[in-house]
Amino acid sequence: MIYADNAATTKMSEAAVHTMTTLLQEVWGNPSSLYVHGQKAKEVLEQAREEIAAVIGASPREITFTSGGSEADNQAIRSVAEWGRLKGKMHIISTAFEHHAVLHTLNRLKREGFEITLLDVHENGLIRPAEVEAAIREDTCLVTVMTANNEIGTVQPIREIGAVCRAKKVFFHTDAVQAVGHIPLNVADDNIDMLSASAHKFHGPKGVGFLYVRKGVPLFNLIEGGAQERGKRAGTENVPGIAAMATALKEADAKRETNAAYLTKLRDRLIRGLLEIPHSALNGDAACRLPGNVNFCFEGIEGESLLLLLDDKGIQASSGSACTSGSLDPSHVLLAIGRVHDVAHGSLRLSLGEDLSEEDIDYIIRSVKEVVAYLRGFSPIWRDLMAGKKQFIL
Ligand SMILES: *Cc1c(COP(=O)(O)O)cnc(C)c1O
Repeated sequence: MIYADNAATTKMSEAAVHTMTTLLQEVWGNPSSLYVHGQKAKEVLEQAREEIAAVIGASPREITFTSGGSEADNQAIRSVAEWGRLKGKMHIISTAFEHHAVLHTLNRLKREGFEITLLDVHENGLIRPAEVEAAIREDTCLVTVMTANNEIGTVQPIREIGAVCRAKKVFFHTDAVQAVGHIPLNVADDNIDMLSASAHKFHGPKGVGFLYVRKGVPLFNLIEGGAQERGKRAGTENVPGIAAMATALKEADAKRETNAAYLTKLRDRLIRGLLEIPHSALNGDAACRLPGNVNFCFEGIEGESLLLLLDDKGIQASSGSACTSGSLDPSHVLLAIGRVHDVAHGSLRLSLGEDLSEEDIDYIIRSVKEVVAYLRGFSPIWRDLMAGKKQFIL
C-alpha cells in the first residue's frame, strides 16, 4: 500500500506510540489531584508543555492544550472577536482558502454582527502582505491567515504578514496545522500572536493539539468547567496524548531538514512525471509549497473516480480535503485560486510521507497516467473537448 494522504492524517511514529501506551498504563492519574500519582501526571504534562514551547520558540505559559486544530482555531478567533466586541473593533480579515475550522467560525461571527473580509488568493495560491495591509481598518481586531494550505500546500509569507499586523496593532493568528513539524517556524521571528497546531498532522495522536497565545493577547475559554489550563480550557487533560504529541513534535523537529530535503526531491519528481499528462496542471506555486504536497487538476475527468481507481492500485490519495470529500461541491480552495468548476472537479492531492521511495513515486506516476487515460476514454466532457465543442482550459 502506498499512503499518500499525509495532509489528512499521518501514521503515529513508534516513539509517540511508545510514549502514549506507557503513560496510559503507568501514569493515568488526574493532573489536578494532589497525591503523588496525580502529581506525576502533572509533571508529564508540564514537561510536554516545555518541550512543545521550545520547538516553536514560545514560553510554556503561552501554550494551551486543545482537542486538536479545529478547537485551537475556534478558540483563537473567538477570543480575539470577544475582545474586539468589547473594544468596538468588529472587523476580521482572513482569506478565501482557509480551513473550514476558520471559515465556519468566521461565518458564525458574521451572523453575530462581525464584518469579515476574505482576501482573494492569487492564482499561485499565495496572499500578498501588501493586500493584508490595505485591508486593515481602524476597527480591525484580527487577521487570520493559514501558514500552509491543507489542499494545495502553498506556504504564505506569514512573517511579513505578521509584521504588517504588528505595525498596525492588529492581532495575527495563523492556522499552522499543516506547517508545524514540517517547515521552520518560530513565533517570535515570525511575528505570530496566536498559532494553531494538531498532533495528528505530525505523526502524533488524533484528538490532541495546541494553541500558542503570546503573552498579552486576549484568550477566553470556549469550554467552561474546571480550572485546567489556567482556566482557559476546562476538562481533565489528555496526558498520554499530550505527551505523545510532544514526543512526535520533538522527533519531527529533529528530522525536519532531512525529511524536507527528501520529500522535496520526491515531490518534484512526482510533479515532473504528472506534468507529462496532457491537459494537466499543478495547483499552487511550484516552489512556495510544503515539501510533501502535490495537487493537480486533470481536465475531462472526475476526481472521485480517479481516487477509487487509484485505491484499486493500492494508492491512497485524496481530492480536495478529507473534510469536503463525500460532498459533490468542488473544493473551495481550488475555486479560490480561480479554477472553474469542471476543472476543479478533476483534482488529485498526493501528500507524501518519508516512508515512500523513488520507486513508489514512479509507480504513482505510471498509475495516474493509466487511470487518467482510462477515465478520459469514456468521459463525455473529454469527448466534447476533443471534438472542439468545448474549449480546453488547461
Ligand atoms: C487538519 C487541519 C485542521 C483540523 O485539525 P484537527 O486536529 O483535525 O481538528 C485545521 N486546519 C488545517 C489547515 C488542517 O490541515
